[in-house]
Amino acid sequence: MALIVQKYGGTSVGNTDRIKNVARRVAEYRNRGDKVVVVVSAMSGVTDGLIKLAKDIVPLPSEREMDMLLATGEQQTIALTAIALHAINVPAVSMTGAQAGIVTDGVHTKAKIHNISPKQVHDALDAGSVVIVAGFQGETKDGQITTLGRGGSDLTAIALAAALKADLCQIYTDVDGVYTADPRLVPGAQKLPEISYDEMLELASLGAKVMQSRSVEFAKKFGVVFEVRSSLNDNPGTIVKEETKSMEGVVVRGVSLDKNQAKVTLVGVPDKPGMAARIFKAIGDATVNVDMIVQNISHGSGSPATDLSFTVDKPDLLKAQKVIEGLKQEIGYKEVLTDEKIGKLSIVGIGMKSHAGVAGKLFETLANESVNIGMISTSEIKISVTIDLAKGEQAIKAVHKAFIG
Ligand code: ASP
Ligand code: MG
Repeated sequence: MALIVQKYGGTSVGNTDRIKNVARRVAEYRNRGDKVVVVVSAMSGVTDGLIKLAKDIVPLPSEREMDMLLATGEQQTIALTAIALHAINVPAVSMTGAQAGIVTDGVHTKAKIHNISPKQVHDALDAGSVVIVAGFQGETKDGQITTLGRGGSDLTAIALAAALKADLCQIYTDVDGVYTADPRLVPGAQKLPEISYDEMLELASLGAKVMQSRSVEFAKKFGVVFEVRSSLNDNPGTIVKEETKSMEGVVVRGVSLDKNQAKVTLVGVPDKPGMAARIFKAIGDATVNVDMIVQNISHGSGSPATDLSFTVDKPDLLKAQKVIEGLKQEIGYKEVLTDEKIGKLSIVGIGMKSHAGVAGKLFETLANESVNIGMISTSEIKISVTIDLAKGEQAIKAVHKAFIG
């Protein structure tokens, strides 16, 4: 007899037929004698709809009240899922995050889990019930309702699996697992049987948004092995776990193309200490995330100056531009250029740690396609380059073919 945590995302519980389908799947596990804890998201669109209602009233609603409001989305789904299980004669009980013992800090709308005391969950499981827990929510020790940030039901599931020492944690979603590339861009993309936490994190932050990044970090920290799979079929999914020796044999696990980046270039920044600090402090204060940064020192005549380029998420471009323009007097650079027509292409794999020549092969592949490389950044397990957006799809296909097949 195993203890299983299953999480079903918004599309998997998107209407009552889907909820009945979830109930059937849960019943299969429960009827073969397993203890099952189910974590559900709000039905797809519900959280966005609630946010819209609040923002129709005022652009910046109170964060405490937003948590009160958003937590209702998941509460609808837990009750409906319990009702669907009752309808097929499976004992089931729904619980809010608080009832499941999920205690968080008091940072409304992006609370962190402090600890979990799942006494009620254990009691209900021991009594033979399936337990359905509302994802994405918790409670402070003073009894205030909190939420864990968008996509936070994943975190609820992983954290509960850790607290309950579950034998199995399954994340059901609307894709079959994690692929070597987005199958819509690369027809030959393959489903990965397994992937390491670090690779999953890089691919998620690169736009392959299968799961909330925080939940993968949490799983890594607590060693929670989990499977990402589809609730709409019975295909085996992708196992996410700590890297193993055999995983290192594969140099590149996945390739991604992020079309959502923009480049900002400051031309003629005086080459003296404190300039980069001033610029990126101001950008950070405006809560704009910077990804790649490149600096070129010019060795021409006159006082030394540098060109400084960096990338931001496209929706943040205007904000970044405003901040930079506000610094013109103080810094005394020549001009600002922006480019929205870039794509960020990345290859990810823990095998890169132990293989040489990966960058050369990537650059050669791009050269053969006449794709020009803009900025370059690397980590131990990733190489990213910016390229012309118009050539993005051609480039990712060629790079996938060169490294993966
Ligand atoms: N319902 C929440 C959201 O849409 C949490 C989740 O789906 O995981 O962000
Ligand atoms: Mg979701």
